[in-house]
This record gives sequence, C-alpha cells and structure tokens, in this order.
Amino acid sequence: MKRVLITGGAGFLGSHLCDRFIKEGYHVIAMDNLITGDLRNIEHLFKLPNFEFYHHDVSKFIHVPGELDYILHFASPASPIDYLKIPIQTLKVGSLGIHNCLGLARVKNARVLIASTSEVYGDPNVHPQPEEYWGNVNPVGPRGVYDEAKRFQEAITMAYHTYHGLETRIVRIFNTYGPRMRLNDGRVLPAFIGQALRGEDLTVFGDGSQTRSFCYVDDLVEGIYRLLLSDYAQPVNIGNPVEITIKQFGEEIIKLTGTSQKLILKPLPVDDPKQRQPDITKAKEILGWEPKVSREEGLKITYDYFKSLPEEELYAAAYNREFAKK
Ligand code: UDP
Repeated sequence: MKRVLITGGAGFLGSHLCDRFIKEGYHVIAMDNLITGDLRNIEHLFKLPNFEFYHHDVSKFIHVPGELDYILHFASPASPIDYLKIPIQTLKVGSLGIHNCLGLARVKNARVLIASTSEVYGDPNVHPQPEEYWGNVNPVGPRGVYDEAKRFQEAITMAYHTYHGLETRIVRIFNTYGPRMRLNDGRVLPAFIGQALRGEDLTVFGDGSQTRSFCYVDDLVEGIYRLLLSDYAQPVNIGNPVEITIKQFGEEIIKLTGTSQKLILKPLPVDDPKQRQPDITKAKEILGWEPKVSREEGLKITYDYFKSLPEEELYAAAYNREFAKK
C-alpha cells in the first residue's frame, strides 16, 4: 500500500485530497494544526485503518515513522481575510513548512507536490495567465505574505529538484469552490451564499467588474492527482478557464438561492486582482486534463452543503467576517 502525507489535511482542499487518496487505496496520513482546518472535514475517515491524523504544525520539525511515497504540502491559510489575520503563520508555513516537507522527502525518498497558486501572478498584466508569466506582485501589500510565501515555496522546491534531484511537482491552483469551504473564510462564494441564507444583501467589492474563474473541487483534485503521477516537474496551472465578473457571479447566487436581497457595492480591497483566468494548455497537453463540472452543477452541490450546516454557524460566520475586517 502506497503511503501519502497530506499537510493541511483537515482543510478544504486537503480533506478532499484525503478522500481521493483513500479511494485510490493509499495509506493516508493527514497533518494539520487546525488553525484554519476543521476536523469535521475528515471525521468520516478516522474509523479507517489506512487513515491517520497528526495534530501538528508543519512549520515545526516533522517526524513521520515508516515509509512515505508522496508528500502533498497543502497547509496554508488561503483566503485574503485569513492571511491578513495570521500573516506570520502564512509566511512560515510557506517557507519553514515546505523546508520541513522537502527535508522529510529526502529522508524518505518521497515525491513532493506543492500547492502553489494563481496569486504568484499577482494582479496580472498578461491575460489569460500561462505558466511562463512571471507575475505582477506587490511584496509589501496585504496579499504579499501569501503571494511571496508561495513564490518562495516554488523556488525552494525547484532548488531541491535541481540540487538534490528530488522528485517534485508544482500545481498553481486558481479559485476553487465546493463543499467544506469555510463559511467565514471571507471568500466570495461563502460570503455571498452566507449572506443570501441570512437574508442580507450581497456585498460586491469595487464595481464588481473584476473577474475570476471558478473551478469545482472534484475537477481540481483530478488535475492534482494526474500531476502527481506525471513526470512533469515544472509548474502547471489547474483551474477552470470559464471567466466571470464578480457582479455576474453575485447575480447567479441570487438566482440560485432565490433570495430577495440585492447586490450592494463596498470598497475594493487593496491589490485585489482585476482579472484572473488560467491558461490550461499545459494541463490539457501534459495531463490530458480539463474541468468537467459546470458552474451550475458545482454551485448547486455547494449551496446544498451550506444549507445543511447548523444555523448557529451561519450567524457565527457573519460575526467572524466583521471581526476579521477590524
Ligand atoms: N469579493 C466580493 N465580495 C465579498 C468577498 C469577495 O466582491 O464579499 C470579491 C473580491 O474583492 C475579489 C473576488 O470577489 O475580487 C474574489 O475574492 P476571493 O476572496 O474569493 O478570492 P481572491 O481571488 O481575491 O483571492
């Protein structure tokens, strides 16, 4: 049985990866310090003999007994509100955390896959963004702690690949959504759905003309799985290239939820990228991958998930969002 370590295993993406590797017959070790992760995301796996959980901060020395075939580094706060609240941890997990993973990988002779991000492109001047684009990042802006940590993470991973001959993979993840996103992470989808469910107006930042391209989580996991098993060490974009303005997105959520509330405009946060769309030519050519789930389908599943959460959580989420803004 192959053994995989998934850091950030209790998070949104990490927990979906745990599910996928369990399904593929792996022994899965999830590691998480639970700052932004949630044990409820992996509760259903605890009864399995081929699942283990380590409550540990990956920025501190990692000890994992036994063999490891793969290490997936997915630990990190990943929403602008989170990394504004915990900027130092964000920098540490993207630097000290990956350093520990790479050291562990050398000892275990394991292959490492790191979660990078479209944020390495910053507020892009090239559209859509191919992997060759170097980006337009403000290192000292509010997003700098995340963007630069992820850029450093790519650099150190590539250095271990070229200098130590370690097998490495780099996925650049574009906006992804689905069940197990946190209602209070401040991202646009949980924000809009939470507002609709509480009967509040939906807060569009700026004039809503900025664009994003939203990928359903199962599609993303499929792309990551294929990349891990490929022999390609350069970065690969994984995301859904269907682009939409945030205003249109808000209108879709109003329609989906049937809310009688409306869109209201709020100030645009500093350094908010104006447009974002992945060029997925490489993923198509190298991995034979492209997204399959339409936004209509994916949003419906995600809405059903949010509707199933206890009502207290809906209101706690509203409180946390306000708190995080202060
Ligand atoms: N956004 C918004 N209203 C909200 C939350 C976010 O209009 O309540 C906007 C945000 O300014 C950005 C886009 O939605 O332009 C996506 O934001 P998110 O935080 O989900 O991710 P990003 O792609 O900016 O990292």
